[in-house]
Amino acid sequence: MYTREQLHLAAVTEARYREAAPALFAARAAHYLPLTGGHYERITVRDQKTRWGSCSSKGTLSFNYRLLFAPPRVLDYVVVHELCHLTYMNHSWDFWNKVASVMPDYLTCKRWLRDHGSELNGLCHLQKRGQL
Ligand SMILES: [Zn+2]
Repeated sequence: MYTREQLHLAAVTEARYREAAPALFAARAAHYLPLTGGHYERITVRDQKTRWGSCSSKGTLSFNYRLLFAPPRVLDYVVVHELCHLTYMNHSWDFWNKVASVMPDYLTCKRWLRDHGSELNGLCHLQKRGQL
């Protein structure tokens, strides 16, 4: 079990990462947009347990701030994934081909998320860094 202090430290860490998230996702999306094409209206940051990102038909990209606890390449994969939905609003072969054209190693990132997604929180993050 964790002490109250450890839980507090984890919560503070999550709040700090969440604060940093909008600027980071905006920067990564701007970086990849010339490669994926498409056009988005705005980016929002959310906190969901199981969803890493989404793309609405109105061009709103949403990202889970917990991705900031993941390796940068994995965060980038989710950004590229949602950017490709601006062109293909489905998971067709065309969609995956587009993802692969920008990020040939996307399957590794996809698997990493499946296997480690549940570790993307303040407690696990601090533990991995030996700070708990
Ligand atoms: Zn998708």
